[in-house]
Amino acid sequence: MKPIQGMHHITAVAGDPQANVDFYHNLLGQRLVKKTVNFDDPGTYHFYFGDEIGTPGTILTFFPWRHMARGRRGNGEVAATAYTVGTASVDYWRQRLSEQGVIAGETETRFGAEVIPFQDPEGMIVELVAHDGRATFRPWQDGPIPAEHMLRGFFGATLWVAEAQGTAELLTRSLGFTSAGQEGNRFRFQAASDDIGLTIDLLERPGLPYGSLGSGSVHHIAFRTTDDEEQAQYLQALRQDGYHVSPVMDRQYFHSIYFRAPSGVLFEIATDAPGFSYDEAVAELGTHLKLPPWLEAQRHDIERRLPPITLKPTIEDKNND
Ligand code: ZN
Repeated sequence: MKPIQGMHHITAVAGDPQANVDFYHNLLGQRLVKKTVNFDDPGTYHFYFGDEIGTPGTILTFFPWRHMARGRRGNGEVAATAYTVGTASVDYWRQRLSEQGVIAGETETRFGAEVIPFQDPEGMIVELVAHDGRATFRPWQDGPIPAEHMLRGFFGATLWVAEAQGTAELLTRSLGFTSAGQEGNRFRFQAASDDIGLTIDLLERPGLPYGSLGSGSVHHIAFRTTDDEEQAQYLQALRQDGYHVSPVMDRQYFHSIYFRAPSGVLFEIATDAPGFSYDEAVAELGTHLKLPPWLEAQRHDIERRLPPITLKPTIEDKNND
């Protein structure tokens, strides 16, 4: 069985949809590649942000629930989502964040790389990690960020755990990650590829409270598998290893299986295919409200209930009003 090639996407909870779009699409330059609804709760949007085409390993998705209370960061969840930037882009990003009113923390050095931590409007922790390795992504041509400074897909994610060992074994024995060292209570694991979204850090925090889900919380992290056949092999192998794995679910743009890691973090394995151009041309990604066939009959009702959002004016334009 082929080892996991890295992250596919991260799914999180937001509050106000417009603030969510303003932050990720306009400020960070992550293109809104799909605007759809929560299939189980069609009165709520489901936004997907990524590179120009939503390459696996660049995709951050949100359910923006307008009246959701803030979540509390804690054990058993993905507590920080990290993007890669080039080492020459650190100053650009510190300046851009500052100009846009985002208060970044001190630059940290982690495993030899500079890390800029900050929070999104809901308190979700986002990090930029300076790293010049290979990054196969499709730059968003019409985005607000100059090509040389664009986010280069995910660097990885940090999971807060009460105890690292169980999830470490899941990563290394069942998913093909290798141990890549330890700094203090941070245990690093690397996916068996040389591209994007490769690094999973387990931050061991024994005795500290578990997180509570709300806006600003990550709901789950998804790893990549190329196709249905490979996913079926994982489904079988993980069940043999004793994990309670869901049946395959059709998420329109990929197919998914879910299971809970020993630390309590919800894991997903998603297929690269069919991708986001499945129901929308690349030039028009994110500009239409897309619904799965079984919700089309309710389109009128759904559109009436969803709050309108605008992709432009950008935050810069608004500030100039
Ligand atoms: Zn997912």
